[in-house]
Amino acid sequence: MRALVLEDDLQVARGLTEGLVRAGYAVEHASTASEADQAMQRGNVDVAVVDLGLPLEDGLSFIRRMRDQGVTVPMLILTARDTLDDCVVGLDSGADDYLTKPFRFPELLARLRAAVRRKHPETSFLLSVGPLRVNLRTHEVYQGEEFFALRPREREVLESLMTAWPGCAAKAALFKDADGVPADSSPNAVEVSIFRLRQKLAPLGLTIRTVRGIGYRLEEQKT
Ligand code: CA
Repeated sequence: MRALVLEDDLQVARGLTEGLVRAGYAVEHASTASEADQAMQRGNVDVAVVDLGLPLEDGLSFIRRMRDQGVTVPMLILTARDTLDDCVVGLDSGADDYLTKPFRFPELLARLRAAVRRKHPETSFLLSVGPLRVNLRTHEVYQGEEFFALRPREREVLESLMTAWPGCAAKAALFKDADGVPADSSPNAVEVSIFRLRQKLAPLGLTIRTVRGIGYRLEEQKT
């Protein structure tokens, strides 16, 4: 899942980016609406977190303009403004949801997931990379039409890798609890699962590349 963070406060942006990467998102940061515009035009955004107070064009105007252009990417406003009027204007402008700072990160993650689900109720649970498909609702993995057998922890790791694909899944995000929040697990347990997954995925032309200091990325082998 690829997230765009539109936020001009670099410290806030860094915190958001780190948290989202830990949760398995591939994150692109934009400081201005025009940078965000370019990311949207490249078409590689699944969900956007939008600050309202921005230099030049503000977040409300950006959201309104995107909706006018037919962009349907789910957008969540994250802002210090907490008056009812701002909330109503934000939602009327085409935002999917609204969260005020300070916020709790698990709530942000839950709201982002909900916004994506509402927008794509049929497809947002289905991911595919190469010959593999995973249903995030039923936690079933298929190779083509065949069920692809994995141990539960291998499946969790694979789900995180496929959710982050083509980005990198943070090592800390590879095991998750029922709410999708990263669970504590020993680095060794992650490495054992990665080792086993690599063996199972190799015949499918998929590799798991180690991204030093960050985590792992699922890649299709070039033939
Ligand atoms: Ca701001």
